[in-house]
Amino acid sequence: MRSLEQLAAEVDGLGGKRVLVRSDLNVPLAEEDGVRRITDDGRIRASLPTWQALLDQGARVVVCAHLGRPKGEPEEKYSLAPVAERVRELLPGTTVRFATDLVGESARAQGDALGDGELLLLENLRFEKGETSKDDDERGRLARDLADGASAYVGDGFGAVHRKHASVYDVPRHLPSAAGGLVLAEVEVLRRLTTDPARPYVVVLGGSKVSDKLGVIEALLGAADKILVGGGMVFTFLAAQGHDVGSSLLERDQLDRVRGYLATAAERGVQIVLPTDVVAATAFSADADHAVVAADAIPADRMGLDIGPESSAAFASALADAGTVFWNGPMGVFEMEPYAGGTRAVAEAIAGSDAFSVVGGGDSAAAVRALGLSEEDFGHISTGGGASLEYLQGDVLPGLQALED
Ligand code: ADP
Ligand code: MG
Repeated sequence: MRSLEQLAAEVDGLGGKRVLVRSDLNVPLAEEDGVRRITDDGRIRASLPTWQALLDQGARVVVCAHLGRPKGEPEEKYSLAPVAERVRELLPGTTVRFATDLVGESARAQGDALGDGELLLLENLRFEKGETSKDDDERGRLARDLADGASAYVGDGFGAVHRKHASVYDVPRHLPSAAGGLVLAEVEVLRRLTTDPARPYVVVLGGSKVSDKLGVIEALLGAADKILVGGGMVFTFLAAQGHDVGSSLLERDQLDRVRGYLATAAERGVQIVLPTDVVAATAFSADADHAVVAADAIPADRMGLDIGPESSAAFASALADAGTVFWNGPMGVFEMEPYAGGTRAVAEAIAGSDAFSVVGGGDSAAAVRALGLSEEDFGHISTGGGASLEYLQGDVLPGLQALED
């Protein structure tokens, strides 16, 4: 993949040129009294160095990104306006413009007004159907509109490189392009995980997107020494072993697949470590009645919302002597204090180990920061969950492929 330096050389310098940058600004937001507030700005901060490098060269930087999952038309609650506000705070002294559409009148007017060393953030990419369309022509049309007037493209939205979307996959066909520093750094770290990782290689998996994440287990069964499973996905494992899981998150159609993984792991000598106790609550709420129960005795009317203290201790000790750690997905509903213990224990164990550690996943990274841990105690905190999982699965990532061509 080409770097910014190579791109600058290719187009005879970026000063005064309009450069379209695809960034990942898909940050978590909370609404309070009708005001949307960013609860974790990690992805914005991770995007700054690439913008700054371009601004320093006098480029006219146009940033495009998505937020949430709007369905191809404008929806106020997915507006990037709060992100533009945050960017202004993070780039004092830089003119930061915001277009209230993606390729419409506002984007054109703001683009025309954009000066050297200024930044323009466009409204949510997914307000246009073309962004995520499966139809090549529909995506292609949006890609041409986005590329219109730009002299170069920089792909830096690592969290979206696994998507065959217009801004990720199609735009680079129309412009001289390069990978931004964030994408290059992320890929370098993942390469380290897949080429001769220091042993033991311990993987911690959790979170709520169970079926999305099962695929990576298959790949990891050929790479990792231990796989610790927590979060919402654990109940599909416990059910696969024949246990009742009450009203916990369960993906019944994945049970056979999970049984297959357990059998393969046993054959290959890969340890799959499941919790022996869980925090089970009567409802998905911080105020619900909750208690620690054995993992094989979850009452029918309760749901598991965290791994229990015995499991936390076991996971921590499995992590203590690791050479390499990859962690994706919180161990419980860490956003609610009664169910944050497992995630905190795992995060602290990883922070305290000497292993080369990588945290992938938007919520996992947010958990590290929300729990007050220092980012410096982790080898790398990835901005992309799905993207890093697909990379580890050995999939071709459309956004990286587009930057190779
Ligand atoms: P990441 O963004 O790190 O890849 P996911 O998006 O897959 O992680 O999952 C994060 C979410 O999983 C969190 O919001 C957390 O509340 C939820 N979660 C964790 N454990 C459970 C559980 N036992 N039941 C329901 N949801 C859970
Ligand atoms: Mg998530």
